[in-house]
Amino acid sequence: MDQITLQPAAGAHGELTGLLMINAYHRNNKQQRSKIIIPDSSHGTNPASVITAGFSTVQIKSNSKGLVDLEELKRAMSEDIAALMLTNPNTLGLFESEILEISKVVHDSGALLYMDGANLNAMMGIAKPGDMGFDVVHFNLHKTFSTPHGGGGPGSGPVGVKANLAPFLPIPLVARKTDQKGDQEHYFDYDRPLSIGRMHGFFGNFGVMVKAYVYIRQNGPDGLREVSENAIINANYLKKSLKQHYHLPYDGICQHEFVLSGVKQREKGVKTSDIAKRLLDFGLHAPTVYFPLIVPEALMIEPTETESKESLDEFIAAMIQIAREVEENPELVKSAPQSTPVTRLDEVRAARELNVRWERKQNT
Ligand SMILES: *Cc1c(COP(=O)(O)O)cnc(C)c1O
Repeated sequence: MDQITLQPAAGAHGELTGLLMINAYHRNNKQQRSKIIIPDSSHGTNPASVITAGFSTVQIKSNSKGLVDLEELKRAMSEDIAALMLTNPNTLGLFESEILEISKVVHDSGALLYMDGANLNAMMGIAKPGDMGFDVVHFNLHKTFSTPHGGGGPGSGPVGVKANLAPFLPIPLVARKTDQKGDQEHYFDYDRPLSIGRMHGFFGNFGVMVKAYVYIRQNGPDGLREVSENAIINANYLKKSLKQHYHLPYDGICQHEFVLSGVKQREKGVKTSDIAKRLLDFGLHAPTVYFPLIVPEALMIEPTETESKESLDEFIAAMIQIAREVEENPELVKSAPQSTPVTRLDEVRAARELNVRWERKQNT
């Protein structure tokens, strides 16, 4: 990408920033484009950001391989479309192999291409969003560059743009100029009349960026490529080991994650959420469940690059044992977890009636 803003505080905030720039770009070209296309596999933040930025969404169906359906896309294109928002690799962990054709269809009709970069962990040192035709991309530093995600943050979602969108970046930008002695110096550039304005106080979540920067410098270009390669190998190893035991709706080589479906287990009365709870009894952190929405009873498994062969094998063994338990003793899985100090929490009630006081029961 040609220029970057470090301001956005999360992926979703980066999406909003990117979409506001897309809006400003079309307005500056005296065009009224009010709609954003998103695939049905997209993350929930995508439609939310589209609405927050003042657009409306047009959803397109994925094809039988779980990828963007080019014909569907062509049908959905019109003079009203401001951009296509795409995650690549997508939320099924599949690389959009027709990305260059997709980019051409979008750009030929005057729209722009947004990349949700949440899955960049599969791509570092291997492929560049800019080469695929993306005009805007956000990076989730807390997903790809070392800061653990979850637990409420803080995160950071810098946004990179091609030169066509650079005038619209948030202010201030860090710029460079040459002083009277001929030395280069940095300054804050506020003089950007087309800017969408400020998106965050000062420069976003600085601490997260320091961690990401150190991580990048420590790994170097070869190290980052190795990170992505290991993440991809780990995911494919898990996928191959588990696909005889759980339904795999979209097969083929995956990137850093893949999505199983618990439909076979559901027939025995066991839900994917039960399987996730049962994993806690094995001391394992459960994967994301019920996302993406196009897979019923979804289990999205993203091992990352850091797991050893031993810990991957431990996960495989637990998942296979749970599949066996579903056949032989489904009640055991349905009443899991058995071994944790508290069992099933009423998460909705916990969120609605926040009570953070600890009370010890008299008789315990
Ligand atoms: C996590 C994620 C997001 C949102 O990022 P946040 O940093 O959590 O706001 C958007 N899209 C995809 C595909 C994601 O996985």
